[in-house]
This record gives sequence, C-alpha cells and structure tokens, in this order.
Amino acid sequence: MSEEKFKKIISHAKEYGFIFQSSEIYDGLSAVYDYGQNGVLLKNNIKNYWWKSMINMNDNIVGLDSAIFSHPITWKASGHLDAFNDPLIDNKDSKKRYRADNLIEDFIEKIQSKLNKEVSKNEKRIGEKFDLNIFLSTNERAKKYNSQINDLKLRLNKALNDDNLTELKQIILDNNILCPISGSCNWTDVKQFNLMFNTKFGASLESSSDLYLRPETAQGIFLNYMNVLKTGRMKIPFGIAQIGKAFRNEIIARQFIFRMREFEQMEMQFFIKPGEQKKWYEFWKETRMKWHLSLGINQDKYRFHNHEKLAHYADAACDIEFEFPFGFKELEGIHSRTDFDLSNHEKFSSKQIKYFDPFDQEKYTPYVIETSIGLDRMFLAVFSESLNIEKLDDGTERTVLKIPIILASNKCAILPLVKKDGLPEIATNLKDKLKLKYNVIYDEKDAIGKRYRRQDAIGTPYCITIDHQTNQDKTVTIRERDSMKQKRISIDNIESFLSKSFDISNWL
Ligand code: ATP
Repeated sequence: MSEEKFKKIISHAKEYGFIFQSSEIYDGLSAVYDYGQNGVLLKNNIKNYWWKSMINMNDNIVGLDSAIFSHPITWKASGHLDAFNDPLIDNKDSKKRYRADNLIEDFIEKIQSKLNKEVSKNEKRIGEKFDLNIFLSTNERAKKYNSQINDLKLRLNKALNDDNLTELKQIILDNNILCPISGSCNWTDVKQFNLMFNTKFGASLESSSDLYLRPETAQGIFLNYMNVLKTGRMKIPFGIAQIGKAFRNEIIARQFIFRMREFEQMEMQFFIKPGEQKKWYEFWKETRMKWHLSLGINQDKYRFHNHEKLAHYADAACDIEFEFPFGFKELEGIHSRTDFDLSNHEKFSSKQIKYFDPFDQEKYTPYVIETSIGLDRMFLAVFSESLNIEKLDDGTERTVLKIPIILASNKCAILPLVKKDGLPEIATNLKDKLKLKYNVIYDEKDAIGKRYRRQDAIGTPYCITIDHQTNQDKTVTIRERDSMKQKRISIDNIESFLSKSFDISNWL
C-alpha cells in the first residue's frame, strides 16, 4: 500500500470524527491521540469483542481493572527499571534521534525489497518455468542480497542479545547506514534509554515518592493474582484479563496510532502448571489467530513472527503481525513468561505467591502464558483494512468504510425521505425504539443519495429509509452498505433483522 493511501487513512480518520491529534489547538502533542465521536464507538466495540471472547467464552477466565499507579517496587521486581530500554542513537548533523535497532531493520528491509524486485523482474521474464529456490541459489545478485540480509540479521540479534551497544553502532558504520534527514553517517554512540514515564506521588516534597506510569497492564494482574485466586476460588489453569491504558516514552513516535506514548492494551495472563507451557503457548497462538480471522479480514494480512531475541521474562514468544499500510508489523504478542513475574514479586514482597494443586497435592509457582494486543493497533488494522474507494458503474466514486459490521460504530441510520408527510415522526419513533439497543443515527438533511454516502464514509452497515409507501403498507427500505442493495421489509421486522445481523454468537 502506498504512502498516499496511508495519508488518506489518517485524513479520513480525522475528517469523519474517528481520531484527532491530541491538543491540536496547541499544535498537538507528539504520539498522543484522541478518539472522536465515531472513533470511541468503534474502539468500544473492539474492546467488547475481545472482552466477550475472553470472559464470556471461557469459564476459567475472569476480568480485572487494576489501577494505573502501582507501588514503585513493582517495576524493580518486574525488571522494567533495569531492562525496559531501547537503544537510541543521534545523528550529529540533523540532531534527529533514532532507535539503533530500527535503523538497521529498515536497512535490511531495503535490501529485502531490492531482492523482491529482482525476483519479480525475473519471474516476469522467465514466466511459468520460474523456480524461486533455483533462482535464489544461482542468481549472483540474489545470492549477494540474501547473504547480506542473513549476515545482518545474525549480527543484529547477537548484538541485541548481548546488549552490545558498541557493536550496534559498528553495524551502522560498517554498512554506511545514513540518517534519512541529513543523509550523513555522523552518528553519536548508542545509549540505553528507559521507556517508563515517571512522576511524583504525594503532595509534599519531603514525603513524595517516585512513581511510574505503567508501561504494560500485565503487572496489575500479577499483583492481584493471589486476591483473584482466593476470592474467585480459581483452579489452575485459569486466566485474568484486563483492558487498560499503558504509557511508554517511545524514542521515535511515527506511524500515527501504531506507536503512541499513551495507548491501551488488552492483556490476558493465563496461569498454568510448570512444564505445560509449550502446550498452552500453542493453544493461545491458535486461539488468538482464530479471533482475528473471525472478523472476516483477509487471512493473507496476518502472519506469525517468532522472536529470536526474547524479552527478559520470556522462554518463548511470537507476534501476530498484520500488514499495516507501511508493511507487516506487530499487532499482538503471545509470550510464555515462565514464573518470572510471580517469583520476583514473591521475592521482593516477601509474601507467598503460590498455588496449591489439590489433585497432585503439591505447591508451586504457576507459569504464565500472556496474550497482549494493542487496542489502538487493532483499531488501525481494522480501519486501514476497511477504507475503500470504489469506482461505481456510473463513473462516480464512493468512499466506504467496510468495517466488519459487528464492530461498526453505528449500526444503522434512520432516514426519512422527506421532512414532511409524517415521515420524520415514523422515523423518530423507530429510532426511539432502537436507540438503547444499538447506536443509531437519525438524519433528515440533504438528498437521500448524499445521506447514504455520509453513512458509507463512517461505515454504518444499514440505512433504513422511511418513504411514502411506509405510510401505506408499513414497509421501509433497508440498504446494505457493502453491496448497496436495497430491499423492502416491514417496519415491525426491523428489530429482529438487526438482532440477527448483530448477534455476536454468529461471529465468535
Ligand atoms: P514494539 O516492538 O512494536 O515496540 P513491543 O514488542 O514492545 O512492541 P509489547 O511489549 O509486546 O510490544 O506490547 C504488547 C502490545 O502492545 C503490542 O503487540 C502492541 O500491539 C501494543 N503496543 C506496544 N507499544 C505500543 C505503542 N507505543 N503504541 C501502541 N501500541 C503499542
């Protein structure tokens, strides 16, 4: 997808009340965004779709809403104070700051696209007989690109695993990786940068203490593990799910709501018996991918990416990547977190955090499988995939947001054809009947075609038009967003039509 298309997505999100730059009247705050009147509805529907799939679909998963603030020792125990760092590097000429690993990854990506070009050029030339494996192992240029990519990946992973900042800089220098702004290779040394925001807790200077805004919601779940275990009479395996804000002082914040400094996560920690982590890791990988595919978005847009460099807490990890307008990037993480967090909280708090297994008559610290998805990234995935500009038979264009209808901000629009002859009254009555069950729009302004286009642009699945025939036989037209097909149905059947269309059990 082109940069043009991405720009269109951002401007459409603003123009139609989905996403605004935060503090826009003061020229905005970098990487912080607000959700507008349509955005908040779509966001709430995504939350609901995730929450139902976790809490309602699983007898052994319960919810939680823990505070954003937690005791500062939390972040010592979790390892975030010592290890939640990104390697940063500055270009001395442009004074721009970058993540050193991202600079190298972008460079690898560039070689990859050269290789892809080479492949498609030869594929076209050779035609049906083209064999990718033979080509990659015989063509001199392809061989060179391939080995460059592999060498760089190996070197990068080793440097990251060893926390070797000197080597990271050396990779940049050896490959003459240039600053995209200044075009120079005049770099500072690489430094570690902690991503947590800190603040003061308490009113007086003497008694106030340092506090961190949580960089992930997971720790609130670990701190409450014993509370939920006891009060919920939970039996392993069981999960705790929560949706909430997280904060990271990202070094570079671009790509719209993909990388924000304040964002929301939907996380679930699944507590299991040690030794069973492989089985449950595979289970949650598959379950989460099914959740994504249940929305009907093209399967080719998703892929797994296994981590080579593991976070400080993990013994296996992968991402579900989505093809955003700027390429495949992480949408959700699935991590086998071992007993790292619970054991450390036990150590730092000196409180017992264990599980007594009534069947095996043994006590242990559970292992944890985590599924962690960024709500804003999910929003971007759905939104960017839904935005279509279609050429119609009459030569005109229409802009339509083909959001999976279960997630659509507003479920239907009720439109009296004219503002007289009793039609607005019928339409208002219908709206009043539906408004507590669904988000419904009432619109009587402008020609009907224009009103349809307005609803298409915000992704409303159905337009219900009240016309003169309604006065005679109590039927209305229902226009379907994606096909633009219309049919007449009795006004008395609208509720059952909508309840069938928006029945979540047909989706999950
Ligand atoms: P990345 O490598 O892109 O920085 P991460 O691996 O640090 O992401 P995790 O710590 O695994 O991310 O967080 C879980 C999920 O939270 C991610 O899959 C992503 O969807 C979301 N997320 C993380 N950082 C951000 C951010 N700055 N803005 C929006 N969403 C984020």
